[in-house]
Amino acid sequence: MKVPLLDLTAQYRTIKDDVIAAITPVMETQMLILGATVEKFEAAMGELTGVKGSIAVSSGTDAIVLAGMALGLGHEDDVIVPSFTFFATAGCIARLGVRPVFVDIDPKTYCISPDAVAKTIARDYVVKGDDAPPVHRKTGRKLRGIMPVHLYGQCADMDPLLEIAQIYRVALIEDAAQAIDARYKGRPAGSMGTVGCFSFYPTKNLGAFGDAGHVVSNDAALTDMMRKMRVHGGHQRYYHDVVGMNARMDALQAAVLTVKIRHLKAWIKARQERAARYVTLFEKHNLLSIVTPPYTAPDRDHTYHQFVIRCPKRDALRDFLKAADIGSEVYYPHPLHLQKCFANLGYKEGDLPETEKATKEVLALPIYPELSSEQQSFVVEKMAEFYRK
Ligand SMILES: *Cc1c(COP(=O)(O)O)cnc(C)c1O
Repeated sequence: MKVPLLDLTAQYRTIKDDVIAAITPVMETQMLILGATVEKFEAAMGELTGVKGSIAVSSGTDAIVLAGMALGLGHEDDVIVPSFTFFATAGCIARLGVRPVFVDIDPKTYCISPDAVAKTIARDYVVKGDDAPPVHRKTGRKLRGIMPVHLYGQCADMDPLLEIAQIYRVALIEDAAQAIDARYKGRPAGSMGTVGCFSFYPTKNLGAFGDAGHVVSNDAALTDMMRKMRVHGGHQRYYHDVVGMNARMDALQAAVLTVKIRHLKAWIKARQERAARYVTLFEKHNLLSIVTPPYTAPDRDHTYHQFVIRCPKRDALRDFLKAADIGSEVYYPHPLHLQKCFANLGYKEGDLPETEKATKEVLALPIYPELSSEQQSFVVEKMAEFYRK
């Protein structure tokens, strides 16, 4: 038996006819960029998130860059981010000249720790006046935002983060790339902060047939700015109010996504069922004293973009599974604060202990709606075999 980490072809087979029917008119009309097809998908995303401003863009990366540009973030600014995340979270703002300020995670959810955020601000920043952003004590840089990442499909602890953002009047940028339709106290990921950013990279829970992404915001002025900046900074062609970028979504991607978004809730449910099945199997094989399954906070749900365990002898287990044709992956093996490109920021090993510990212990197992119970049993039997030795 083979158990790949992810099998996108299995999903495609279930929706093939609908996808072909949806992309055909795009090809026939050659209306390939933005237009009615993209607007239809924007409406669907607006409905799913319950957010007024819904803008389809070219990737999750461009979603974050666009949000940062529209917020006016730049060379004098700091934004607080987790270090335990995909590179784009910090890379996109660093590209705008922003200094990422890395903080540690909650070791249970792997999401940014609101406590660490509060402590970092209290320790490193001074509040100058009512309307002025907090200023870094040593560098004089302005704190302009906090960017939680809803990692693996579960929301970060948003209420305390929203409170901190409100107290210090900084933007709250949600990196919801991995957590479309995940809920925090009933509220959808991406809908709670100043702006929410999504990715439709093919492997995400809602994946396009290539690169695509999305931003949502209830702030009308910010939405207008992002809409402008998506097409080089003007609503009217050849007239540019501001300098923007090209962050447009292709109509072909919107057509595919409009078909797929109808299945999203059922697919998430299937992921949740498979996650529960893994835990039952761990129990059956007496693995729960050895491996730590994903934790879901009581006020949240988990959409299992990834099913990530903590386990001893992680790398040896991974090799053992690989030899049995079972895919697994480490998200993420090297924390952002220790990346070479951020060496100038002066972080060193030991600065973020929970983040560094997680990079050495986490392992993502195969999870997708089409994963069969036989495949899951095989994965867990092999894990049990490994730990018996
Ligand atoms: C995938 C991802 C992104 C970037 O999205 P792309 O569409 O690949 O550009 C950003 N942040 C996180 C947390 C992601 O997982």
